[in-house]
Amino acid sequence: MRFKDLSRLKRSKPLKITLGSLPQHILMAQYAKDKAFKINKLVGVIFEKSFEWYGFTLANNDYPELIVDIGLPQNDLNLQDYTTLGSQRIAEFQESLPEDVMINGWIHSHGALNYRHFSNIDEKNHFTVLDFVVARTRKPLAKKEIAIQDLVLLEKDRFMEKDLEKGSVCLITDGPIAEAKIMETIYGSFCYSIVIGDEGWHEQQIHCRERGILSGHTTVRSQATNIEFVDTGRSLSQSDISALSDEVKEKIKPHTDPPPEMIERM
Ligand SMILES: [Zn+2]
Repeated sequence: MRFKDLSRLKRSKPLKITLGSLPQHILMAQYAKDKAFKINKLVGVIFEKSFEWYGFTLANNDYPELIVDIGLPQNDLNLQDYTTLGSQRIAEFQESLPEDVMINGWIHSHGALNYRHFSNIDEKNHFTVLDFVVARTRKPLAKKEIAIQDLVLLEKDRFMEKDLEKGSVCLITDGPIAEAKIMETIYGSFCYSIVIGDEGWHEQQIHCRERGILSGHTTVRSQATNIEFVDTGRSLSQSDISALSDEVKEKIKPHTDPPPEMIERM
C-alpha cells in the first residue's frame, strides 16, 4: 500500500482551546507607586540613613492583576527570617488583611545602593511568594487534549476484569462510544516582584506558573517586564503620609552595621 500524502501519517497535534491569559506587564496604581517611594523617603528622614525594607503588593480579590496598595509587614532584625521570606510570614500578613484584599507579589528597596537587579536571594523569595499566591491568582488558561497512547473505552456493567488489563487509561461510559477526547484544564497563576531605589528607579518581573490539572505537567517562568501606572483616583494625602510615617517607625528597624549576609541579600 502506498500513502498518497505522508503528512497524514503524522500524529495530530493535541487540541488546545485558549480560555484566558496571564498578565504580560504589571498594572500598578499611581497611589501604590507613590507610597513605595514615600516609604524610602520616610526611612531616610526618620532614621537619618537609607536602608532596605520589604513589603507586599496588594490587590482587590476581584482584580488580582492590579496593584492598588503596598502592605508593610514587620521588618525585623532577625537575619535568618529576614533574608529568606518565609511562607509562614506571608501567611500571617495575608491573615491581617481585610477579606477582600490579597497579596499579589512583593516589593523591596535597595535603598541608596545603585544595585538595580534582583540578587540570588531575591530570586528565591520570588518563588516563595509565588507558591503562596498561586491559589489566589489562579485562573483557567486553556483546555488541552491529553494525548493518550492506548485509551480503552469500556461500557459500564459490560466489561470483565481482564478488560482492565489493557490500555494505559480506560474510560467507562454508560453507553457504547467509539471515540473520546480527554481535555484537561491548564491553570495559570502569577506574582509580581518589584525592586526600587532611593533615586527613583524600579525594576520588575512577573513570575508565572502553569499546571495541567490531570497530567500535573507544570511550567514556571519569570520575565522582566514594564509597569503600566494607573490613576485609580486615589492619591497620597497628608494624613496618609503621617499614618505611613508611624508605620515606618513601628515596622522598620534600622540596622546601622549591616553584617555580610545583609549585603549579600541585596
Ligand atoms: Zn534585593
